Amino acid sequence: MAELMSGKKGIIMGVANKKSIAWETAERLKAEGAELTFTYQNEKIGEKVIPLFKEIGAKSYHKLDITDDQEFEEVFEKIGEEFGGQFDFIVHAIAGGPSKEDLKGKYMDTNRSSFLRSMEISVYSYVKALQLAYPFMKEKGGAAVTLTYYGGEKVIPNYNVMGVAKAALESSVQYLAADLGQDNIRVNALSPGPILTRAASGISDFRGLMKNFKEKSPMRRLVEQEEVAASALYLLSGLSSMVTGEVLHVDGGYHIQG
Ligand code: NAD
Repeated sequence: MAELMSGKKGIIMGVANKKSIAWETAERLKAEGAELTFTYQNEKIGEKVIPLFKEIGAKSYHKLDITDDQEFEEVFEKIGEEFGGQFDFIVHAIAGGPSKEDLKGKYMDTNRSSFLRSMEISVYSYVKALQLAYPFMKEKGGAAVTLTYYGGEKVIPNYNVMGVAKAALESSVQYLAADLGQDNIRVNALSPGPILTRAASGISDFRGLMKNFKEKSPMRRLVEQEEVAASALYLLSGLSSMVTGEVLHVDGGYHIQG
């Protein structure tokens, strides 16, 4: 059978370790024939992830702190060159901004800098990535996927300012999809149930959240990274050629429960 991503080239943003949703997604896309380049947040994370990038046969990898516009622009320009002026997809699996203090207690206590940081890191970075990818995608079209969470739709205890950021991210998915559809660039999001990753461990009582999820979701079990990766493959491949502006829940049906 032909591989679903054969001949496709793209960027994976947000691998911090082997448990990252981005890593499992990279492995799945690679297995389906994709050529990958990676960005990672800083040198410390680089020490852990560069060996993984080498192991998977990455075309390249670049340090990119997405709060640094100059670095963002230089890295995307470089990746565009490395791929010969054209690439096909982006996986944006980046979130951050709130401190541990922000991810417990009341949302109303959020301070200005946490609010703005969360928006910058967790929302604007997706907009900026598509802005910078556009020149390299506009000829042949492409697809982008980001990661959101149900806390952007409904109130989830302790998710607080991240929930508000995810709501803005989901709205951005729609606006970006509307902007880019005519260039055959599709923009979507996945909304997985709780998975114990580095980012998730910052949320107060995350284990309680997982327990509740397991008890209430129709499928009565937790989501595995590889199941999110399979849905990312769907959204980035030709299988979803008329799907854009969508938030696809990978949550065993949790969000349908009343
Ligand atoms: P993770 O900690 O492995 O990944 C988060 C990534 O964001 C890390 O690689 C980190 O380096 C990166 N990042 C943060 N600030 C950055 C910056 N300034 N510049 C560059 N990179 C930066 O955790 P994960 O759970 O794999 O998270 C990936 C995405 O999935 C996030 O958007 C998260 O909100 C979303 N998500 C996670 C869950 C879950 O339960 N784990 C559920 C739904 C959605």
